[in-house]
Amino acid sequence: MNVRCQYCRQSFNLSREFIVQAVAEAAEKKQKYHGVECINCRKLIKVPVAQMKRFIPRQPQQPESEAEA
Ligand SMILES: [Zn+2]
Repeated sequence: MNVRCQYCRQSFNLSREFIVQAVAEAAEKKQKYHGVECINCRKLIKVPVAQMKRFIPRQPQQPESEAEA
């Protein structure tokens, strides 16, 4: 997922693993944003959790009717 720093305009990529971790932490703290440090200016960028959730697959709670043989 691509994030752009609003301070220095540097754009960088967040790994799926990072996003999964960030979403889990935000859910735990009931936050709507997760702070990500800019790789260039090291300021904290607020990334909306809803935006990150779109980049990770949902955990299947229960098996669907579509079964793999
Ligand atoms: Zn920056």
